[in-house]
Amino acid sequence: MPMAAYWSWRKTLEAPLPNLDAEQGGNDVELIDSEAGKRCPFDGAFLIRHKVGHGIDFHIDRCGRCGGVWLDAGEWEELQRRQMHDDLHLIFTSSWQAEVRRQRRTKAEEDLLVRRLGNSDYKKAVETKRWIDSHKENETLPALLGFLLDGIGGIGELLP
Ligand SMILES: [Zn+2]
Repeated sequence: MPMAAYWSWRKTLEAPLPNLDAEQGGNDVELIDSEAGKRCPFDGAFLIRHKVGHGIDFHIDRCGRCGGVWLDAGEWEELQRRQMHDDLHLIFTSSWQAEVRRQRRTKAEEDLLVRRLGNSDYKKAVETKRWIDSHKENETLPALLGFLLDGIGGIGELLP
């Protein structure tokens, strides 16, 4: 798809579409990412792969010469489901790619903790954090935990 075609469609939108979570934009279609090393049908230049991230597994190919974007079967539809199809021009920016890398690092750290703790204890820790966050004494509870774990601070400070 030449970027000019994308932009003439994009200009018809009144406002950017809010991106949907992976769960909201549910998808049961299996996508097959194309092989690397493909060339642009317009000018024969190599296509550069860009990871979409944000819970989307595939890459999008973009021509380094003309800027044309090449989507494999089902990829545009998947972007639509997540309402990310109007962000196509952003996926190739360095800030988008930096966010994709940040998300990948976070996921890798999470996976490491899940492996170390086991799934059920990891879930329990996440649920505990949620419980604390939603508690009306959500500043007192971490202080109490700190006291119980390390004996840090006087418990008297927690009381009015
Ligand atoms: Zn090209």
